[in-house]
Amino acid sequence: MRAWLKRWRETRTLDKRAIPEPLWQLTLARFPFLSFRDATDVARLRDITTLFLARKEFTGTHGLVVDDEMAVAIAAQACVPVLEIGLDWYDGFIGIVVHADAVVAQREYTDDAGVVHEYEEELSGEAMHGGPVMLSWTDVDEAGESAELGYNVVIHEFVHVLDMRNGQADGIPPLPDRHSRDDWLRVLGAEYDRFCARVDSDEDTLLDPYAAEAPEEFFAVASEAFFVAPRHFLTEHPQMYVLLRGFFRQDPAAHAPP
Ligand SMILES: [Zn+2]
Repeated sequence: MRAWLKRWRETRTLDKRAIPEPLWQLTLARFPFLSFRDATDVARLRDITTLFLARKEFTGTHGLVVDDEMAVAIAAQACVPVLEIGLDWYDGFIGIVVHADAVVAQREYTDDAGVVHEYEEELSGEAMHGGPVMLSWTDVDEAGESAELGYNVVIHEFVHVLDMRNGQADGIPPLPDRHSRDDWLRVLGAEYDRFCARVDSDEDTLLDPYAAEAPEEFFAVASEAFFVAPRHFLTEHPQMYVLLRGFFRQDPAAHAPP
């Protein structure tokens, strides 16, 4: 689309479909980490959230109705990671599927002896290449309170979307050049190995031990804490903090309350 046409449409969306002030204030009050930025950036977050709502489709399952309050809660949190790098990073999918609660998925794996094992996995969210993104409303709803644990399901799944912009999720999102890629592999690799060693020795960690599953989970889980518990994350993972600050072009720890 031509750039001027896109801008004109965006301006029209912002005029006609602006999030009502009381609803926006309610959302900021419920999810305080949305305000870990200066006032201008919080205002831009509101605009980008409006554009996100205009571009994406929400579907509730089993009769769940996704009302405006729920849609804005999800959209605002989803827009946090792309506030500086741009909403276009989410162009690869349209749909967001909201379940009332976590979903139990049937999984199977084949062991080295060729035996297939079946197991159940409880999912609070899931992102697939090409979409849709699935979320459990219970987890989204609790995001204000669970932030101190560094937990945020929306940011987790949408960081997987960023990761998958250049193929399957592998912990390496598209990066501007070879130098940044080398830097990414070096820092993320070292931090991931160190984290796995801490989990193996049963240390208490800010990040959910689930982050030790794979580098892509480490990237997603670290990003949750970076945005919702930034000061704690900076203390525990200073190098990873700097890496994510460079990628997202944001510095939430500088604006979070002590
Ligand atoms: Zn994940």
